[in-house]
Amino acid sequence: MGDMGNGAALEMMNVSKWYGQFQVLTDVNLTVAKGERIVICGPSGSGKSTLIRCVNRLEEHQRGRIIVDGIELTSDLKNIDAVRSEVGMCFQHFNLFPHLTILENCTLAPINVRRTPRKEAEALAMHFLEKVRIPDQAHKYPGQLSGGQQQRVAIARSLCMRPRIMLFDEPTSALDPEMISEVLDTMVGLAEEGMTMLCVTHEMGFARKVADRVIFMDAGRIVEENTPEAFFGNPQNERTRLFLSQIL
Ligand code: ADP
Ligand code: MG
Repeated sequence: MGDMGNGAALEMMNVSKWYGQFQVLTDVNLTVAKGERIVICGPSGSGKSTLIRCVNRLEEHQRGRIIVDGIELTSDLKNIDAVRSEVGMCFQHFNLFPHLTILENCTLAPINVRRTPRKEAEALAMHFLEKVRIPDQAHKYPGQLSGGQQQRVAIARSLCMRPRIMLFDEPTSALDPEMISEVLDTMVGLAEEGMTMLCVTHEMGFARKVADRVIFMDAGRIVEENTPEAFFGNPQNERTRLFLSQIL
């Protein structure tokens, strides 16, 4: 916790970013309150992944300010570490360590980064594996699990670091259709417990159910932002209408 950002979980102010000559984000302004659930959608290449990767400095922004739970992201490595210890992230590809068991995947960072005693880390891991409803898989290896189960492990693994904010980047888009709902259900559970969440997803059912706000990006800008009801029921922007007509 810090002294900036008006108590918001996340503040982005006029954030711009370039990849070489190409401007990928233009004047992005976004404030996320603690406990708020945001869904980000928009066409492929609109900058959604870049935006959320800037939040934990997997990408560096060149202009504007990003403040995560009161800590401003600068090139100060201490700040970057402090921010990363507050922010959990789940990607499309779950990136579990294949040679470690599910339990070991979940205890690795708590033991090595947080210096949590092994027994305590294991108890915490089992707690979160129960939350994602796969405690019985704890001693298996990732390759023995379905894609949906692996993604739930990836979520549990993030939670073991006790993040204050969770970032999701299309966590269901690499999954077979029958496995999507088990992962979305896990995310709904997390939302119901009050986790601050920033989710890039095209799962509009999920957005309607849990989002406090839906954000639509196009060509590196936030072009529309609204409650799910208004966003789906009465989209204002031409690009939003086109996008929704293609995915719904
Ligand atoms: P989205 O997640 O909305 O599909 P991205 O944030 O992945 O969009 O990418 C936005 C744009 O930036 C795309 O045009 C993409 O090709 C480009 N881009 C993404 N990553 C890089 C990179 N590392 N170097 C150069 N261009 C990139
Ligand atoms: Mg993306």
